[in-house]
Amino acid sequence: MNDRLTRVALVMFITAVAVLGPSVNSGRAQTASTPPADHPEVTVRGRKYTPQSILARNMGTPEDQTTQFPPHKIIGNLYYVGTRTLSSFLIVTTRGNILINSTYERNVPTIEKSVEQLGFKFSDIKILLGTHAHGDHQEGDALVKQLTGAQAMAMAEDVPALQDMKPSGKSHPIDKTLHDGETVTLGDTTLTAHLTAGHTRGCTTWTMEEREVGKPYNVVIGCSLRPPATLTPQVVAEFNHTFPLVRSLPCDVPLGDHPAQYNLAEKYAEIERGARNPFIDPAGCKYEVDIEEAMFHALLDEQQKAAGW
Ligand SMILES: [Zn+2]
Repeated sequence: MNDRLTRVALVMFITAVAVLGPSVNSGRAQTASTPPADHPEVTVRGRKYTPQSILARNMGTPEDQTTQFPPHKIIGNLYYVGTRTLSSFLIVTTRGNILINSTYERNVPTIEKSVEQLGFKFSDIKILLGTHAHGDHQEGDALVKQLTGAQAMAMAEDVPALQDMKPSGKSHPIDKTLHDGETVTLGDTTLTAHLTAGHTRGCTTWTMEEREVGKPYNVVIGCSLRPPATLTPQVVAEFNHTFPLVRSLPCDVPLGDHPAQYNLAEKYAEIERGARNPFIDPAGCKYEVDIEEAMFHALLDEQQKAAGW
């Protein structure tokens, strides 16, 4: 990079910080401290979104974050055991179970209750995984490990941020470090960890196959694709890799670390009506990436304009 470009990039970054507020790209913070901006606005499939409205959609109220959503089967041996706005997934295998996302530590008893209501034992959780190193998804890992003895595994790029997560001083358990494309197998079930960085350094999208009436379906448990307020060159490079990768994953059952990313409320209402499995939704596989990629480009444009490009 020559001097002028370096200077322009620096000015762009400083201006963006001044215009858009301090970076929320510090690894942890995201939700409460710096409220995101009400600009830019993007329209995707007829709906308008701002950074603020996306965060509000994801998180709901403090009560939504901690209130049990009815635990339910999604497909095959995959179940929902999270709260109204923070997803937790249970995968039941022939050799014990896998939990994805412990969410906040205070939610662990709620997750335990959901697991037991479905007829499974919390103590049968043998492997603990996560989507990304933010407290609303993985703060409870130490407590889950303490209660179940599960092996905790994490994407290498998220390990430093996870190690910073110490609820009541408990150190964050990491028994195994994973790398992009690595698989995790327990009994008859194999999950693949895809590095889909941008929201955090080690944001992990999990894929697996589940069967229904003998037919295989590709399940994608997406990591948040929500861009931070300030797009550093590293974050831009990460998202430029992540968006095409997420679009390329074979997908029949789209899921996400916040239920709103896959319209859980509407789909759950459909279960009650009963005719078909509403979670089998190939048409919905691009829903979240379309919103977040549009927002990413709008933020980048805004940041570049603010820098006088
Ligand atoms: Zn997050």
